[in-house]
Amino acid sequence: MIPQTSPAPAAPTLLDPALHVVAVRHHRHLAPLKRPFVTAARRTEAVHYVVAEVELADGTVGQGSSAETVAVTGESADSIAACLTGPLRGALEGADGHLAELSRRIATAVPGSTSAKASLDVALHDAAARVERLPLVELLGGHSCGHLTNDMTISLEDPAVMASRAAEAVAGGEQILKIKLGQDIEQDRRRLDAVMEAAPQATLRLDANQGWKAAEAISIISGFERDGLPIELVEQPVPAGDIAGLARVRAEVATPVMADEAVWSAEDARRIVDAGAADLLNIKLAKTGGLRGALAVADVALEAGIACMVGSMMEPRISITAAAHLAFAHPAIALIDLDPPAWFTSTAPSGGYRQRGAELELVGGPGLGLAMLAPTQDAEGTGGDT
Ligand SMILES: [Mg+2]
Repeated sequence: MIPQTSPAPAAPTLLDPALHVVAVRHHRHLAPLKRPFVTAARRTEAVHYVVAEVELADGTVGQGSSAETVAVTGESADSIAACLTGPLRGALEGADGHLAELSRRIATAVPGSTSAKASLDVALHDAAARVERLPLVELLGGHSCGHLTNDMTISLEDPAVMASRAAEAVAGGEQILKIKLGQDIEQDRRRLDAVMEAAPQATLRLDANQGWKAAEAISIISGFERDGLPIELVEQPVPAGDIAGLARVRAEVATPVMADEAVWSAEDARRIVDAGAADLLNIKLAKTGGLRGALAVADVALEAGIACMVGSMMEPRISITAAAHLAFAHPAIALIDLDPPAWFTSTAPSGGYRQRGAELELVGGPGLGLAMLAPTQDAEGTGGDT
């Protein structure tokens, strides 16, 4: 069951401390995955990622990160690094101002480049929260307590491989499986049947990553419903630009429909809400360009009375910890999809959050609550600009 957000609580009030940024740096990393991550859009075996750092006048340093996801955001590690070295550093290094204003400088420094902006925006907020000696979630107006049920993604593979991954995940304590589909509707059905046989108790989230046409989506989802499959939601069944198709799917099926690739900003969220095109919105920092943009999407959802999930790209632990703080910061956010760290061979940096079984909670401490990631950890070897 997807929690309801009504009666509507108020949107959070953010703290806005005055800051002086003296340096903006980055370093590059390459982290192997335990196994390939495969969706209808891409296949990833190792993650190139960039860590952005903001240093304040009192010596406080904050970190944020973003990963190369060319197939989704159009950004490579090279382009993220170039954006951080160029326009983003130009906008922030040496700047004096309140946090909201400095965050706005990042948002308006360059068009697009949402992953690069997200890494720097998180680094800025991490530094600000460390100065205030508060967990980031509290700087954002939320509370550190409580827990959210995480899920585990099952990559798009042959049915037998997906079945064995699903069985393994449930044996490890997972309750919700996010099943990647969207290549071929007949094979997708075989995939889903194999997963259900292997993990009959699991709740299933389906993600077609834009892989179906509206009519195909209606046909396949209606088939799942007729057969009584335990499907909590279906994510982005149709291409991102097809809002009318998304609305059609939503109108024709009973399963909740979530927009992901179709929602990058509060403006997108409003368009989707106005079109009646989704029951749920998937917020990712790498799409919104940082925390403020993410909270703006959640505000639209709150006003519309719909719920959000916080997800992520295949990103490292710093990004996921920032997403976890975001998830606890806003009352419209009811679901999380934050399993990427389970895919990485490296667990650095320590802290931030912990997961017991499927339950994720923040561990406290100032800022993200993470130890600093050193430039030499998971080092890519091509260096940063420091
Ligand atoms: Mg998705």
